[in-house]
Amino acid sequence: MPSAPPRSNAWHETNGERGTGANTLTSATTPVAPRYRDDASGIPGAPPLAVLAPRSAQDCAQILSTLQRTRHPCVVQGGRTGLSGGARVRPQEIVLSLERLTQAPEIDPVAGVMIVGAGVALESARQAAAAQGLFLAADLGARGSATLGGMAATNAGGPLALRYGTFRQQVLGLEGVLADGTIICRLDGLAKDNSGYDLGQFLIGTEGTLGVITRLALRLHPAPRGRRVAICALDSADAALTLLPLLRTGLGALLTACELIVEPLMTAACTSQNLRYPFQAHCGAAVLIEVAGPDPDADGARLESVLAGALETGLLRDAVLSASEADCKRLWALREGCSHHLLDLPAITSLDLSLPIPAIPSFLSDAAMLLVDQTAPFVFGHMGDGNLHYILPGKPDTQVLVRLFKLLARHGGVITAEHGVGLDKVAYLPLCRPDAELAAMARLKAAVDPHWILNPGRVLPDPLPAGPPPDP
Ligand SMILES: Cc1cc2nc3c(=O)[nH]c(=O)nc-3n(C[C@H](O)[C@H](O)[C@H](O)COP(=O)(O)OP(=O)(O)OC[C@H]3O[C@@H](n4cnc5c(N)ncnc54)[C@H](O)[C@@H]3O)c2cc1C
Repeated sequence: MPSAPPRSNAWHETNGERGTGANTLTSATTPVAPRYRDDASGIPGAPPLAVLAPRSAQDCAQILSTLQRTRHPCVVQGGRTGLSGGARVRPQEIVLSLERLTQAPEIDPVAGVMIVGAGVALESARQAAAAQGLFLAADLGARGSATLGGMAATNAGGPLALRYGTFRQQVLGLEGVLADGTIICRLDGLAKDNSGYDLGQFLIGTEGTLGVITRLALRLHPAPRGRRVAICALDSADAALTLLPLLRTGLGALLTACELIVEPLMTAACTSQNLRYPFQAHCGAAVLIEVAGPDPDADGARLESVLAGALETGLLRDAVLSASEADCKRLWALREGCSHHLLDLPAITSLDLSLPIPAIPSFLSDAAMLLVDQTAPFVFGHMGDGNLHYILPGKPDTQVLVRLFKLLARHGGVITAEHGVGLDKVAYLPLCRPDAELAAMARLKAAVDPHWILNPGRVLPDPLPAGPPPDP
């Protein structure tokens, strides 16, 4: 049984229930706001015992060292926009909220580096970079709430990953606290640093199971002068994949995003989100393309000529090109409308699959046969990265998921491309990672989190309870 949570300088709320460990340590009895219970995955979490909101790495270290001593479990929360239950509270857990780690971005324009608190939202950081003519190359639909720390912890992807890589590639260094309370500080923004193990990168993508990220040194790029966006109508997802190599060859480094929407999702999103369907006639699939570079007019002309070629061969049925930044936003609203439409549905099972790109058509047709008795899935995603958002209507059905994930593994894919394992996919991880790798992950976890107090049950299953000592 865990004992009382720690007293800390960090601000905190408690759940207000007298007699819990939390209340024995504080006079505050404010009930914990319901927002701290879960993330955006749609499954309700438990009320936390308390919410601790550290202001610094030192606060975090103090909290984590005490939790190791008292063996009390805690869950880290950034913006709670995660889609795999990583930040969702389990009974008896304390929340470690990073909402006060909001050190404003400090930008070195010469080095192209931003130092910023992990609790700062992506959108604010992007705006701060833009104000100096620089570009933070990461984006996602939840940009107003998702925090930079959460994005590093989940190694977030998003549409720009096609050109700039995932969030890992944007992180030059970080300050963080390992689960045992050890502070690591690699914020000097060195482009090259081979002085031993890279403990900062060690925390990226580990979903808060090994440590808490408190500050980041982020790489900034020169801001593109402008962008052009097009949305194209095609017969099918297969046709969309034929388009991809033409875009890569014709557009090279100008290609910043290549997003697939398989019908009937766009039609449904247009209806529910009040968006205008962009094409004259309905199509089987749509691809949204963005180019961004030094000369928007020339870049737009290049995009237009590549699309004209594809229209001539009959690969494209229709194409709509932006003529202004307002048009770009309108076209992107169609893609983002798909996410919002799905999040508004009463129950969905949201999968973000990663596949080798050539395997996508055969996976989609095999999966359609496998799920022939189910309501058809909605499919969209970051096509250029082989990342499909595959959304099954209804609540998760374990048997269906096991069959689908086994099929995915046979096509060389893995069960999550960007949203992470969280709580919700732990049971399925062995379907795409060998036992020896899972055992190695558990040894790493135990090395920095001996009492398994930080984000337990996320990514890896809870350890078996320690049994009685063996007979002599
Ligand atoms: C509309 C919408 C669109 C989205 N689009 C995308 C997309 O295109 N690509 C994509 O990758 N994701 C997407 N997401 C998912 C989500 O926004 C990302 O996973 C994001 O990185 C989560 O950040 P957060 O701050 O909200 O983290 P949270 O949800 O709070 O936490 C996520 C995980 O990280 C841990 N964590 C959070 N902060 C820290 C920290 N500082 N240190 C250590 N661990 C931490 C948590 O414990 C949890 O396990 C989308 C979500 C929504 C709602």
